[in-house]
Amino acid sequence: MKRIALVGNPNVGKSTIFNVLTGMHQHTGNWPGKTVAQMIGFFSFQEEEYELVDLPGTYSLISHSEEESVTRDFLCLKEYDGVIVVCDSLCLERNLNLVMQILDITPHVLVCVNLLDEARKKKVQIDLKELERLLKVPVVGTEARKKKGISNLEKRLPEMMQKKEGFQTHYPDKIEEKVKKVEKQLEKVSDKIPSRFFALRLLEEDSFFQKEIENHFQINLSNISVEKLTEKDTLMQVEMKEAENIAKKVITLENESFQEKEKKIDLLLTNKKTGIPIMLLLTMFIFWLTITGANYPSELLFNFFAGLETPILEGLSYLSCPSWLSSLLVGGIYKTLTWVISVMLPPMAIFFPLFTLLEDLGVLPRIAFNLDRCFQKCKACGKQALCMMMGFGCNAAGVVGIRIIDSKRERMIAILTNAFVPCNGRFPTMILLISMFFVGTSKFSSIWEVLILTGIILFGILMTFWISWLLSKTLLKGVPSSFTLELPPYRKPQIIKVIIRSVFDKTLHILGRAVIVTIPAGILIWILANIKVGNLSILAHFNQFLDSFGKLIGLDGVILTAFLLGFPANEIVLPIILMSYLNLGTITDYTSISELQRLLVDHGWTILTALNVILFSLLHFPCSTTCLTIKKETGSWKWMILAILLPTICGILVCFTTNLIFKLFTRLV
Ligand code: GDP
Repeated sequence: MKRIALVGNPNVGKSTIFNVLTGMHQHTGNWPGKTVAQMIGFFSFQEEEYELVDLPGTYSLISHSEEESVTRDFLCLKEYDGVIVVCDSLCLERNLNLVMQILDITPHVLVCVNLLDEARKKKVQIDLKELERLLKVPVVGTEARKKKGISNLEKRLPEMMQKKEGFQTHYPDKIEEKVKKVEKQLEKVSDKIPSRFFALRLLEEDSFFQKEIENHFQINLSNISVEKLTEKDTLMQVEMKEAENIAKKVITLENESFQEKEKKIDLLLTNKKTGIPIMLLLTMFIFWLTITGANYPSELLFNFFAGLETPILEGLSYLSCPSWLSSLLVGGIYKTLTWVISVMLPPMAIFFPLFTLLEDLGVLPRIAFNLDRCFQKCKACGKQALCMMMGFGCNAAGVVGIRIIDSKRERMIAILTNAFVPCNGRFPTMILLISMFFVGTSKFSSIWEVLILTGIILFGILMTFWISWLLSKTLLKGVPSSFTLELPPYRKPQIIKVIIRSVFDKTLHILGRAVIVTIPAGILIWILANIKVGNLSILAHFNQFLDSFGKLIGLDGVILTAFLLGFPANEIVLPIILMSYLNLGTITDYTSISELQRLLVDHGWTILTALNVILFSLLHFPCSTTCLTIKKETGSWKWMILAILLPTICGILVCFTTNLIFKLFTRLV
């Protein structure tokens, strides 16, 4: 089995190539920093088996960011048979810098110039043969989205693995001499060290690399004599000049100003005055489509499942099923499951494809760019905005994405505040409660719904800023690091693929998770509600225990129990609340959203309760998956506990305050 690494700058099509080669379905998206850990897949070609390792996108192997270190460590320290370096045909010069660094490590390189269709559209021509001649390693052109050029890439893999030498940057003779001397000494110490690459780093007096080499190869470098360079920047300047020369020789531009149109759109979307309002309108438009589009199919699903209930009960009694079991199966499980599906499926089926479309178009990094200034003001890193965007999908993914931030201090701030944006699992609860309690049946109800939902999300974002600022002034003091956020090109989204991907990757995945967690939760609640201790069921005891604290913050015992039981998955909080109320009272048939609202009102819910549940849903401990991810990423229980406490305390304080203000206000009025 041959082991091949797949590397390249972020957002050049690595995951797409990985998927085409291996037949897997790794997430692809038009923004930098989305693959932060390595993925492994397998494929075979002409009787040879290959293991393909997709590494996180990186611009350079010499920076010290954690995300980039995954790729650098793999290339420098692991064993493999070759490296496919994917390049963007529209930014070849920048991509060649990475190619040249990798050629310093190994000659077994295949350069894959991807996105040739984009280059063709912009009338940019690339002479691949000349590029191959200059780099001295195989070069292939691909259009990964359309699977073009992939078989040619596969055909040339054996050639890549047999290469004995590739292009090497030629430094001025004096430097070259110094490099060779260090190289020879390193070769003597161990034949496994990529000597040229490390010799260059030692010449640059990079103490980080020095430590890395010593630790990994268990050697002491103090005996190696390194003649210092006279000018610090010389190496990098030479490398950049070489990349520029090669790019000039192989690229022909028919239209010099081919990026003019994109620049104009960017000027509007990322402008200080227009950027944020446009993004806000866009978000509201998406919420509006989700809310108005979801109502009708939700009702249809409700009716469909309610219609099946009687035949199921009849079937069970035909099978002589004992009444307690029928009650558990239908009252406990079926009702909740079908409820989860009716309420969650339609909004998710609309929201996720729209969100993925924005991602594919390249809009998400622009939103992050607009928020960058605010994060800088809070003394946090602008890249946190990208992690926050990921958090809207899934907080666990947002926490993993935080690896793109270089400084530990800023990573901690981003981790601790990621739960302040609602993930997919929390959106349906919020949308539903808003439509149940805050809007009537008037013509403008959906507009109100959108405005309220946007307000809640904005509140979460403001809390993120505020807590980030607070942390950077207290627990995590420091200076914000500067960074460059690359804005990816706008790309035409693949509508069909987006729909399929968001339905299977997100909608069904989340629904499946909700269903899997709901079944045991349904059974547990049914048992707790049916086993009596004294006059009351265990569930009622539990609810009573939490009730007075719940009431203090405008909630009740049942709601708090639901949030606690919903720790494995946020999406089941509302179903648990309903299950508990159903089990506590007499079982009635609830076959539509308005009847569900009646159930809540019957148990004392007011508009204030709904508001507080929405706010607590926005501000409370992250789900168990996110907590475990935080523990894994920070390596510490302390940070994980803080990440649980921080949003929960904020939630309690916010709900307490709303409750207080509301009560004072009603007393005054
Ligand atoms: P990665 O970050 O390098 O893994 O890049 P992805 O595989 O996620 O691709 C980034 C974006 O480029 C996605 O929207 C892909 O659909 C798109 N893409 C990938 N290859 C091509 C291609 O050959 N042509 C075009 N037009 N788009 C592509």
